[in-house]
Amino acid sequence: MTKKILILPGDGIGQEVTASAQEVLNYLMVENALDFSITHMDVGGTAYEKHGSPLPANVLAEAKASDAILFGAVGAPQWDDLDWDHRPEQALLGLRKELELFANLRPAFLFNELASASPIKNHIIENLDILIVRELTGGVYFGEPRGLVTSESPNYAFNTMIYNEDEIRRIAKVAFEAAQKRNGKLCSVEKANVLEVSKFWRAIVTDMAKDYPDVELSHQLADNTAMQLVLNPNQFDVIVASNLFGDILSDIAATLSGSIGMLPSASLNSTSQGMYEPCHGSAPDIAGQNIANPIAMIASLAMALKYSLNEVTLAERIDNAIKTFIANGHRTKDISTDNNSLNTNEVAPLIIEILKNDSTN
Ligand code: NAD
Repeated sequence: MTKKILILPGDGIGQEVTASAQEVLNYLMVENALDFSITHMDVGGTAYEKHGSPLPANVLAEAKASDAILFGAVGAPQWDDLDWDHRPEQALLGLRKELELFANLRPAFLFNELASASPIKNHIIENLDILIVRELTGGVYFGEPRGLVTSESPNYAFNTMIYNEDEIRRIAKVAFEAAQKRNGKLCSVEKANVLEVSKFWRAIVTDMAKDYPDVELSHQLADNTAMQLVLNPNQFDVIVASNLFGDILSDIAATLSGSIGMLPSASLNSTSQGMYEPCHGSAPDIAGQNIANPIAMIASLAMALKYSLNEVTLAERIDNAIKTFIANGHRTKDISTDNNSLNTNEVAPLIIEILKNDSTN
């Protein structure tokens, strides 16, 4: 059956990096006679300018009908003062919520050749390879009640951090299963020392551990994990955390690897449907200059092939091609140590060249 892929380039460098990923996809579709249909639509500020909404209804409908969504990035300063409903970020939040993309997988890894680009000492981050599993549709970002009260003195604002048992079990299941496929270690992160919701989270994850005897489960307090990620990141294999803690910890982990332009992410629901996007934003400071690093987006395509499109071998080939690309010394400006860097549109042809060679070997 034809698999449907929706490409949502969004704003800024989102446009440039999705074009690179599509070039790689086009090559693999021809090479392997893949039965994929591809649709492009606008989201974010670009969609707001053209259609009056950052997530037009027809885009949402198309997303719901797609197997995989490749999402570039959204946002730019010119839209920062729009009211909440029209801000570009609503495209992301709306898609996550409407498609129930509750599981955010954010790998953080280091190409040892790029260790000097990391702010952390080489011996600490060498061989870094962590997977952060972040809960994405619950917790304090969506909890009700929430609000700002200006009719009382002093004024106040409040949010609700809430998780029910089913929400915790489904994200923990993703994390346990990911640990089984990796190095068998899972660290569950919360603040069980001060929050009831965290104590509840810890009890449920502990209860689930008996179904995964091959996974070594540990628990850590979120503030300690933030510190441990910088001091000794190689102690971690898979980390599972709520929406808030996962948001913060995955950005710390991304920073370890040197450039934010290298790291992909996947957001999955309970079917195999998923949205795939780089960890970075729309980078207005370099948009339109043809210097963005498209590797994170190309690696996100690999995750889409693996998790939603049932093409695990092709996903591995892309990951290996990226490794070869780096090992061969190719660099975009963000990871280059000299003035010799590639433009964005030179990256995909080199990756395709490597893929061509590996298919003939
Ligand atoms: P950013 O990730 O866009 O940029 C941070 C820095 O990293 C910038 O200096 C940028 O030039 C650089 N950078 C990012 N991606 C790069 C790449 N692929 N290659 C080379 N360099 C790269 O974060 P920001 O500056 O905080 O945010 C800019 C805009 O993006 C804001 O409007 C923000 O709301 C939005 N944003 C969107 C997403 C998303 O769509 N998922 C995520 C984060 C930020």
